[in-house]
Amino acid sequence: MDKDLLLYEKSRAGRRTLRLGKLDVPAADTSDLPLRENPPDLPEIAELELVRHYVRLSKKNVSIADSFYPLGSCTMKYNPVANEAAAGIGGFRAAHPLLDAGRCQGVLAVMKRVEEFLAAVTGLPCVTLHPAAGAQGELSALLVANAHFAARGDGGRTKVLIPDSAHGTNPASAAVAGLDPVTVRSGEDGLVDVGDLDAKLGADTAVFMVTNPNTLGLFEPEIAAICEKVHAVGGLVYMDGANLNALMGIARPADFGVDMMHTNLHKTFSTPHGGGGPGAGPICVTEELGRFLPVPRVVEDEGGFRLETDAPDSIGMLRGWSCNFGVILRAYAYMRRLGPEGVRRVAENAVINANYLRVRLRDAFHVPFDGLCMHEFVATTRHQRTGGVHAIDVAKRLIDLGHHPMTVYFPLVVNEAMMVEPTETETKETLDAFVEDMLLIAEEAREHPDRLHDAPVTTPVGRLDEGRAVKEPVLRFRRG
Ligand SMILES: *Cc1c(COP(=O)(O)O)cnc(C)c1O
Repeated sequence: MDKDLLLYEKSRAGRRTLRLGKLDVPAADTSDLPLRENPPDLPEIAELELVRHYVRLSKKNVSIADSFYPLGSCTMKYNPVANEAAAGIGGFRAAHPLLDAGRCQGVLAVMKRVEEFLAAVTGLPCVTLHPAAGAQGELSALLVANAHFAARGDGGRTKVLIPDSAHGTNPASAAVAGLDPVTVRSGEDGLVDVGDLDAKLGADTAVFMVTNPNTLGLFEPEIAAICEKVHAVGGLVYMDGANLNALMGIARPADFGVDMMHTNLHKTFSTPHGGGGPGAGPICVTEELGRFLPVPRVVEDEGGFRLETDAPDSIGMLRGWSCNFGVILRAYAYMRRLGPEGVRRVAENAVINANYLRVRLRDAFHVPFDGLCMHEFVATTRHQRTGGVHAIDVAKRLIDLGHHPMTVYFPLVVNEAMMVEPTETETKETLDAFVEDMLLIAEEAREHPDRLHDAPVTTPVGRLDEGRAVKEPVLRFRRG
């Protein structure tokens, strides 16, 4: 509702005149507006009640701040307190996006250094921090690809080839970019079926969009040969970089032939995650594609740093301003604290932790691709079939036992998938406690399957009908 209108109504109803500090807020001229007869019935409560309300709510919420959060594909790291301290520094916190470059050299320097860091990690030299999420990074890169093909007069490239194990954002981004998503099958081994890829590659291929390691936690051993095949038909390779946590400091995607990729700062680089944002999905591309990146670009020259919008080949802007700076700053703090050695250790520990859990759980739960995994692995409830226990029952029982559930029913190529990603930030004690509870759940599935079917029993609400909740939401601000 219009703010002026609301204030006017309040005073008309004889309640009180609202003053902001010493400033009287004048009533707007509302004579020709359709006014409601009665003031709106908005809740009014004391500050303490409000504080208690939110503290109570926060206790009902589960977050990485109070429990293990092995959500596969999401890389749920903790958000280091040092990042928050950096984000709270006054000069950064108060910087307005319309400040002229001379007054925000520090802000622009941080942006430039983060770009350079991502270029070093990926091997792709041209970087933009513009996209607000991984999904928007995918879209930006596909628009860059469209611009690249248009610039060389290469029409008719309409297809984006995407493995069936990919995240749903991949085909969605292709469709939004005006391209046709085409599914490439995974083989028995969970990897790209190269025969199927060969059959689908051609003069109409715009981009092959590959997640590596893929969502099963498997590194594509043939990735370099695959990239060569895509290049041989004139296409580009896009890597969904959501799983960079397994690679950084060890392998650079540019070295195996990737032309474009996004990174999820809210996953790999430990910035806040969830609730729909803000996030950051910077994209990194080859030198050849750099001129098509979104504007504004950060430029560093003798005069210092500035934002450049004059880029005739650019695809333009996909959102307001240059980036979610608070997120970029947190990522910068994380990168600086780790350094190149630390970055490599992160990847190594993420892989070791995932393999530790895989090996400890593989007798109790079925692990369909039971070789060395990267930063995550997929298990299933196939061993629990006799008790009628499904992945959703295991997930709900984990809530009772104090853990956030893993990702379930994704990737779609595995039935009853339970996708576990511990990340490098967990101690062995935490991993062991999770294993003990998973083994307990496996035993319960045999002895007392109803305990799993009834879970969760420790939460304010029990098992919800999530499908119905989406279709028939009940939205209200007060009870009754
Ligand atoms: C998270 C994720 C995405 C999308 O990233 P957002 O930042 O959530 O938009 C894409 N692909 C994979 C594999 C992911 O895990």
